[in-house]
Amino acid sequence: MTRFLEVETFEQWRAESRRLLEANVAPDDVVFSADESQPLLFAQEQSRDGSQYEVRRYDVPNRFMEMATHVACHRDPQRWELLYRTLWRLTHGEHHLMNIETDDDVYQLSRMQRAVSRDVHKMKAFVRFRKVSHGDEREEFVAWHRPDHRILRLAAPFFSRRFKAMSWSILTPDESVTWDQSELHYGPGLPVTEAPDGDALEELWKTYYASIFNPARVKVAMMKREMPVRYWATMPETELIDDLLAQAPSRVDAMIANREGFADTATKFISTQRDLPSLRMASAACQACELHQHATQTVFGEGPLDAKLVIVGEQPGDCEDIEGHPFVGPAGKLLQEAMTDAGIERKDVYLTNAVKHFKFVENGGRRLHKKPSSREIFACRPWLEAELAAIRPETVVCLGATAAQSLIGRDFRITASRGKIQTTEWCDRTIATWHPSAILRAIDETRRSEMKQQLVHDLRIAAG
Ligand code: SF4
Repeated sequence: MTRFLEVETFEQWRAESRRLLEANVAPDDVVFSADESQPLLFAQEQSRDGSQYEVRRYDVPNRFMEMATHVACHRDPQRWELLYRTLWRLTHGEHHLMNIETDDDVYQLSRMQRAVSRDVHKMKAFVRFRKVSHGDEREEFVAWHRPDHRILRLAAPFFSRRFKAMSWSILTPDESVTWDQSELHYGPGLPVTEAPDGDALEELWKTYYASIFNPARVKVAMMKREMPVRYWATMPETELIDDLLAQAPSRVDAMIANREGFADTATKFISTQRDLPSLRMASAACQACELHQHATQTVFGEGPLDAKLVIVGEQPGDCEDIEGHPFVGPAGKLLQEAMTDAGIERKDVYLTNAVKHFKFVENGGRRLHKKPSSREIFACRPWLEAELAAIRPETVVCLGATAAQSLIGRDFRITASRGKIQTTEWCDRTIATWHPSAILRAIDETRRSEMKQQLVHDLRIAAG
């Protein structure tokens, strides 16, 4: 007998699924439906207290539950059946299903989770509050936003922490939320006409935006992808973008000129043809920093021209410098083992480094690795950018802090953010993990083994 169930929220799905499991109802005997036009008035608070994990009595992996809270917010009407089918499989002999990244259901769940995470990230970045007046001393702030998915409940706790001492509301077409400086209250969705018009706050925000705008980082296509034009209407600073873009080239020149010692980069050595073979050939003549003087040769990236996965290390080592290929030394062997454990074949991956020449100090006839300076990383960055622009990978893995700081940001710390998927201008999935050299240098075998397991784990995420 087929059961028809109406579900709108993760909490409702979780409660219904628990009942279905207890009644031993197979996935093929359930049809979930949701009236997406209805406001989410019946939803309970999405808390992280113990009640959220009541289905754990069926021994469901945490990873699935974390994923389910995101997938529940996706607009795909098949999401509830997909979640229940996966839950059923996990509780009926396939307990390790979530480790099989290539499984169709796991793959679909990962894809939806990523889309929802991206949408939450965009909401955090693009919501702009406007002050509303009540004619008394109360100050309230209102924002209107149109997310791709039904993510308000995932994003609202972030705003309550960030704007704890303000009273504010965020309106979306699906649902609204109000923060009264102590609790979040959810209500029905509202049209954009309910949001107030601009005020002095906008002028303040535009001044701030103009001051933080970095012309050296301008990538117009990237801006449009990351800040879709449909959000611009609710973002006051977007009025400034045309002017700021027009001024960008001269501001970049001024920045470089003012930055003593950073004037030389590989840009002037880059070929006009931006395909990988041309870039590789041109890089052999690069003299943008001192490293070319002592190294044997440039070690450019290697791998398929259309690789979905790019792995970026720090710089070539002693063996790589002599052989002219990336990751052929001891660190490369360890990386190979980790990739094999993670189910990644080397032939499918483009391997490269943030810096293309070996930097070393001589000690008793041996050449010992020396970390490249900020200036050398900066000088070499155009080669890495050109490689990524030519390949356009789906995922970039940064091995170690040098690669991560080059692509994700100068403040990036492996110890704090290892294994987290980040959106960068290079691709939606940029992830940083241990460099194999750091694992080889670990203080003891226990630590080495732990770090290697983490590397394998992060590579599995990257391959997912
Ligand atoms: Fe050029 Fe990079 Fe080599 Fe410096 S390290 S000379 S920037 S290729």
